[in-house]
Amino acid sequence: MSASLKPEDLGSFRRLLEDLNDRLRGNVDRMTDEALRRNQGEASTNLSNVPLHMADVGTENYDQEFTLGLIENEQETLKLIDEALGRVADGSYGICAECDHPIAKARLEALPYTRYCIECARKLENTA
Ligand SMILES: [Zn+2]
Repeated sequence: MSASLKPEDLGSFRRLLEDLNDRLRGNVDRMTDEALRRNQGEASTNLSNVPLHMADVGTENYDQEFTLGLIENEQETLKLIDEALGRVADGSYGICAECDHPIAKARLEALPYTRYCIECARKLENTA
């Protein structure tokens, strides 16, 4: 295994992942909170959210589904971040899980939790 990343690069990617992790976790908590609050109909905490017509109720449901979709996405990303941090720890970070080649640094900077190099990501997307 020949990681192309220098130790100082690894350190900065780890910090990047940890920051992202904290930020997403905060988002998920807040959104879960909001979704739950709407579920329980605790209108008293936010009077501007009280639906006046059936049309508004529909919008509320739509918003909630949208929020739940976002939460699912973010949880998926959180899992990837977690795995990436594991790879930083065991020294396999920056290596493509598919072809074992180093992932380009520019790609890691754009998508620090990616598992694949750009070629494999394209290939896998096409076969999915
Ligand atoms: Zn690859």
